[in-house]
Amino acid sequence: MSVVTRFAPSPTGYLHIGGARTALYSWLHARQNGGRFVLRIEDTDRERSTPEAVQAILDGMTWLGLDADEAPVYQTERFDRYKAVIQQLLDEGKAYHCYSTAEEVEAMREAARAKGEKPRYDGSWRPSPGRTLPEPPADVPPVVRFANPLEGDTVIHDLIKGDITISNTELDDLIIARSDGTPTYNFCVVVDDMDMGITHIIRGDDHVNNTPRQINIFRALVGDESQLPHYAHVPMILGADGKRLSKRHGAVGVMTFREQGILPEALINYLVRLGWSQGDKEIFSREEMVESFRLESVQKGAATFDPDKLLWVNQEHIKAMPAERLGGLLADYLAERGVSMAGEVDVAAVADILRERGATMVEMADKAEMFFVAPTEYDAKAVKKFCRPVNLELLAQVRDRLAALPDWSPQAIHEAVHGVAEANDAGLGKVAQPIRVAVAGVPVSPPIDTTLAVLGRDATLARIDRALEKLDRSADN
Ligand code: GLU
Repeated sequence: MSVVTRFAPSPTGYLHIGGARTALYSWLHARQNGGRFVLRIEDTDRERSTPEAVQAILDGMTWLGLDADEAPVYQTERFDRYKAVIQQLLDEGKAYHCYSTAEEVEAMREAARAKGEKPRYDGSWRPSPGRTLPEPPADVPPVVRFANPLEGDTVIHDLIKGDITISNTELDDLIIARSDGTPTYNFCVVVDDMDMGITHIIRGDDHVNNTPRQINIFRALVGDESQLPHYAHVPMILGADGKRLSKRHGAVGVMTFREQGILPEALINYLVRLGWSQGDKEIFSREEMVESFRLESVQKGAATFDPDKLLWVNQEHIKAMPAERLGGLLADYLAERGVSMAGEVDVAAVADILRERGATMVEMADKAEMFFVAPTEYDAKAVKKFCRPVNLELLAQVRDRLAALPDWSPQAIHEAVHGVAEANDAGLGKVAQPIRVAVAGVPVSPPIDTTLAVLGRDATLARIDRALEKLDRSADN
């Protein structure tokens, strides 16, 4: 049987990291088994579901590279199918109309509570052999209830948590269609999972309570036990304070992590390790994850979200990423800031020299801007400290040497800068800092030789000329 997994978000908000991790585990399980991964949008709660949230989920999935093998299935497009299955269950005597009013059901629950039992519907309208039901009241539109087994146990063979056994007497007859005919959540999920041929239901463990009910509905719909899906309930993600993750812990929509300069490969790497491990290996490429992830070895306990570790993982990915891809990503961040990359400077080369110097793409973009945008002002403190007339004299000498270099390599630039320092018996800082102020406006940049090499000769000379002109004048003032 070929593996089919799904991710079934309710589009009531952004794709948050808990959902993203569930999606990732489902995706990995499909990919490593050569199976299919599908997306189902559970949008039946029309008041809370929004098109913006659907889009945010799709964008988040695309950004993380969790590609689905089919177009998404929308529950709101499947009402006719749910209706047909409800009718089928009614016809087969596996579901029945119930005319108890909401007040009556509340009274049944109250009575059960008073006896110290679990509050439940008492089965008043459940047909059984030899039982005569009351005449249906004309003025009460009925709900449809699923006739849950009255005896025996339902066992969830959970791939993560192990067997979980629930006595069927604990489960009352679930409403599968409301009095206005609309199907209910637990029912739709089963029809969808059946129709979509899902073999592995991987979801948050906040759904464990729904599972026995869903298994019983499944059994009523597909006679063959071997057709039942496998379940894997993934433990929750908590904040450092042990509370359920919220915005307060930095748990925001995944696209906010993108805005913060986190790489998609870093986020999925962080998420795969949040609840699963392989020895003490921390850094995984996507291929390594597909290769080594095992649903069965997901930990049983809740995991804790650690934003500092995410930054560390991000930095490791920035360091290891091929320059071309890193440059492509950096270009996106720069373009969003309105930085034009039309000139000579190669953005991949910029990314390559900055990769060791920050934990996020935002930091990298901050440092990269100087390569594409010439400074219009110079940092006043730095000018005071590093651009005194004596420094500017050295800067002018550097300019001439750079202009005369036969080749524009880091090595040649290095020699030119050092040559000026030595010829003038000056410390390297006296020469290098004014160059930095001239090309970047501030006295910070990666090593001066690589910085100038990447910036290019024309831009370097133009920036130095402009600085000599401007700063000279201000020195005269
Ligand atoms: N729509 C549910 C949720 O977002 C998931 C249901 C499922 O995976 O079965 O929590």
